[in-house]
Amino acid sequence: MTEFLNFIDGRFVPGRAEAFANHFPSTGEVLGEVRAADRDQVDEAVGAAQRALKGPWGRMALAERVALLRKVADGINARFDEFLAAEIRDTGKPRSIASHIDIPRGAANFNVFADQVMTLSNESFEMATPDGGGALNYAVRGPRGVIAVVCPWNLPLLLMTWKVAPALACGNTVVVKPSEETPATATLLGEVMNAAGIPPGVYNVVHGHGPGSAGEFLTRHPGVNGITFTGETSTGEAIMAASSRGVRPVSLELGGKNAGIIFDDADFDKTMEGIGRACFANTGQVCLGTERIYVQRGIFDRVAEGLAAKARAYRFGDPFDPATTMGPVISTEHRAKVLSYYDRAAKGGAQVLAGGGVPSIQGYEGGYWVEPTVWTGLAEDSPVIREEIFGPCTHLQPFDTEDEAIALANNSPYGLATTIWTESLGRAHRVARQVEVGISWVNCWFLRDLRTPFGGAKASGIGREGGVHSMEFYTELRNICIKL
Ligand code: NAD
Repeated sequence: MTEFLNFIDGRFVPGRAEAFANHFPSTGEVLGEVRAADRDQVDEAVGAAQRALKGPWGRMALAERVALLRKVADGINARFDEFLAAEIRDTGKPRSIASHIDIPRGAANFNVFADQVMTLSNESFEMATPDGGGALNYAVRGPRGVIAVVCPWNLPLLLMTWKVAPALACGNTVVVKPSEETPATATLLGEVMNAAGIPPGVYNVVHGHGPGSAGEFLTRHPGVNGITFTGETSTGEAIMAASSRGVRPVSLELGGKNAGIIFDDADFDKTMEGIGRACFANTGQVCLGTERIYVQRGIFDRVAEGLAAKARAYRFGDPFDPATTMGPVISTEHRAKVLSYYDRAAKGGAQVLAGGGVPSIQGYEGGYWVEPTVWTGLAEDSPVIREEIFGPCTHLQPFDTEDEAIALANNSPYGLATTIWTESLGRAHRVARQVEVGISWVNCWFLRDLRTPFGGAKASGIGREGGVHSMEFYTELRNICIKL
């Protein structure tokens, strides 16, 4: 059985707080044990990160820092199969997903932000002064200091490195609190950091839960200079409150209830392929996933049949088997939450076009499985349509006009992403800019250029990360004014 250790000041140390089991979601088996860091150990991790800022890391030339980040990317790629197995055992996600998305993007994040930081430029302004001499203003950037990185379980390595890589590129040090459900890849990355020559204390990992545990100890720690968080909106509220103590900057990538809009001029086959992935990829556990779809009335039945067929085509089972296309959800608690919405949909009078229950899979009876599910017929104020379920399920509703589709999509407290399907160029531009979200995809979904702004509107978050936007968050900008 694996024991997941904390990584503090370049060393692996057992936690002194609560111990909890690490389950394999495909079978429910206990594969390991996590020993959470106690308050003193979180304090030690923050102390190590503070000291590292004053050590060789803080004095390192940018080119040298960037070379180390590239070695980290190489280190992940060199141990690709170990990272892959660790991520699959933590999440149960199929190899086909983890090998194409999670692990390659985990490595790519270090190279992308190594490139980004090398091209960062700063503004300068010359000004007139009454004595005629003038003055020159120019801005310089420095690291903010110690960054707390608090992560979810759905794309563990990918989302963690999405924050750690730019934070380190900008010269900060980090203390990471991975999700209690997925401790493995953050821990393994500690070995890669040491092997790459990243100085002790630059990258630290503390395990544990949120409230009353490592998550809260870390985000409330006065030695933390900035907090970056990905997870549920309600947790984001708690973290924002924690960040208000000492007025620390916070970046929040939160939940969504993303709408898809399909117009009757869409390319049918491409739409079905794209919207199918948007609903069911990663067992629906993608913040950008589509849990409500508005379809122009003339093609409604055809889309409904097509999507139901997609849902039925998934194959469950051994995640290491290339034939498996859908994994379980992350935990027994999360399955109970997803199934509670399946129940509400049924009781609310939904027409179930596919799924709606729990599949039975020989040899994997203890796993946290749910069927990919497609509903129609619920009222727009149903909790199934209003609340984030974070499962492989979606609801279809017909609409008649473009304005109606936009209004339906915007009728949500969330505003993370949308996916719009149309062959009309004018409509694509018009609708994409009117949906109140951080990311509008047209004729695609989850197509990511890592230089672009990423984040949510409304209750889906605060701030943007990606490209230069990450550089903004992870640096402190200082203006220098020189009287000439
Ligand atoms: P979660 O909010 O339950 O937990 C995320 C992390 O926060 C975990 O590490 C947890 O231990 C920690 N935490 C919980 N309470 C805390 C507290 N009070 N103080 C400090 N830390 C605390 O989220 P989850 O269930 O792990 O992930 C799923 C959620 O993440 C969904 O809502 C999904 O939409 C969202 N998400 C958003 C994005 C995005 O980019 N916007 C990406 C992925 C996932």
